[in-house]
Amino acid sequence: MSEMSDLGEGDPDRHGIGAEAGGGLVGAHVLLGEREPDAARRIARVLRAHGAATVYAVDSPAGFLRAGADPPPPVRFWDAAVWDAGLSEDDAALTEVLGRWRAQRPGVPVVVTDDAPSARLAVAALRGRAADLVERADPEGLAGVVARVIAERADPLGVEGAGRSALRMLVVGAHPDDVEIGAGGTIHRRTRGGWDVTVLTMSRGGGGGDPARRRKEAHRAAEVLGARLLMEDLPDGSMADDRATVQVVERAVAEVEPDVVFVHSESDTHQDHRAVHRATLVACRKVARLACYQSPSATVSYRPNRFVELSEADVEAKLAAIAAHRSQASSRWYLDEDLLRSTARYWGRFSQTRYAEPLELVHDSTPLGYYHADYS
Ligand SMILES: [Zn+2]
Repeated sequence: MSEMSDLGEGDPDRHGIGAEAGGGLVGAHVLLGEREPDAARRIARVLRAHGAATVYAVDSPAGFLRAGADPPPPVRFWDAAVWDAGLSEDDAALTEVLGRWRAQRPGVPVVVTDDAPSARLAVAALRGRAADLVERADPEGLAGVVARVIAERADPLGVEGAGRSALRMLVVGAHPDDVEIGAGGTIHRRTRGGWDVTVLTMSRGGGGGDPARRRKEAHRAAEVLGARLLMEDLPDGSMADDRATVQVVERAVAEVEPDVVFVHSESDTHQDHRAVHRATLVACRKVARLACYQSPSATVSYRPNRFVELSEADVEAKLAAIAAHRSQASSRWYLDEDLLRSTARYWGRFSQTRYAEPLELVHDSTPLGYYHADYS
């Protein structure tokens, strides 16, 4: 069986950026298993009209699993997959291909299509834990369902529907790249779920390279995560937890009015990180929720009590955002991609998914039961 080609001019650098609140296919990379080239082209056209960046079509179970495990460059990850049930010989084969997909890509939802979905097929799809079942001849309906399952994956608890159009998060870091390393996956997950996320970087990183270059890299990294960047100019290497530092954070808090703030932990060997932590604690005394992310310089006293589940796409976006800090990559051991990925994998053991980022919740003044239990 032959593989069909990429049916869209994908721009993998744009993942997630501009994704509308609650979903949409903007920037999404979709793998499409479909038996007929004409039907594949028709479906791809509709998905792309809804904003999909890439639709890559295959026409066999082997091709589907191969592309799933190893996306064809320049695609680095899939946001969702679509599987034509007609490509599976019978119900057992359908359950099997879905099961194998799930084993290799647990975070990526699969929508099953069929000419006339039956109750029996629904059971087989359910056994394979498909995200949904859609009529094959209805590409518009399919586009809506794919957008929905991507949005649900980004935020399975549906927090963006909690009564306001968008929740707001402020993430504070002492230096460019601190926030991406500590909370890049969570930021991506939130922006995909419709949150407004602002990154506040307290210095321009003059201690680690040319500030102009680092500034450009920081903007690029925030863009990859779908966040806005505020950049201050405190002295890199000699920050204090004094009134001036508190005021910098207070200004951002007044502007953003965040529902949640993330910052460095107190349990950190870097003096700038500790100073920013303390100043943020003071500046955020009236913010409902404050939690600390893990920096590479965190000590063993860092004790996370919340774990944010990350999808494959969240992890990829985090790595892409960190890679944007190119000037640091060669000189910093903690920017090693293998280490970053395996750290997220390690924390995944405390959540229900493969990858996670840890948080140390410092205070939460929302009434119990008012928000759901996901404190990120
Ligand atoms: Zn730092």
